[in-house]
Amino acid sequence: EAKLDLVKKHIKAFPDFPIKGILFRDICPILKDPGALTAVIDLFEEHVRQTHHQVELIAGLDARGFLFGPLLAQRLGVGFVLIRKKGKLPGRTVSVPYTLEYGQAEVEMQEDAVAPGQKVLLIDDLLATGGTLSAACELLRKNKAELLGCVVVIEMKDLRGSERIKPATVFSLIQY
Ligand code: 5GP
Repeated sequence: EAKLDLVKKHIKAFPDFPIKGILFRDICPILKDPGALTAVIDLFEEHVRQTHHQVELIAGLDARGFLFGPLLAQRLGVGFVLIRKKGKLPGRTVSVPYTLEYGQAEVEMQEDAVAPGQKVLLIDDLLATGGTLSAACELLRKNKAELLGCVVVIEMKDLRGSERIKPATVFSLIQY
């Protein structure tokens, strides 16, 4: 499809970033091109309207989930909330720790960000091992949200992140 091709053309690969052996997929060129960015949001919108038409809220992951999430939320006429790295949000918060390749991290959201039973869709730029998204799924469960699924621009298939986030499902535009 033309839109998918356009998106794909605007993803750049950087070998050995941030460390040796990692092929980093950079989504910055998508944001620089209004047509490519519109294509991403069009494709997400199409998927959500077909699969999760009952969505009530989009939750985006720190930091690149914040680039696409609010645009999609506006298209769908729903709100957007932030899932941040620990220590960035004011007021009462709920958090979930998870392990990184090196060490530990924690995802956090404001306690009143999601109402019990609210139908939420998670968004990020990329699914790798699934550590980040699975912690976010757990965070939403802790907040008694109803998680509809996850959407990402890119999925690194070999890392089997979709297995890790089960029973939550993931929709990706591009797979490597
Ligand atoms: P995971 O927790 O699935 O291993 O890693 C996914 C998280 O790390 C996402 O929040 C994503 O933004 C970031 N990430 C890991 N690798 C890449 C990459 O190659 N490109 C981009 N853009 N983000 C990455």
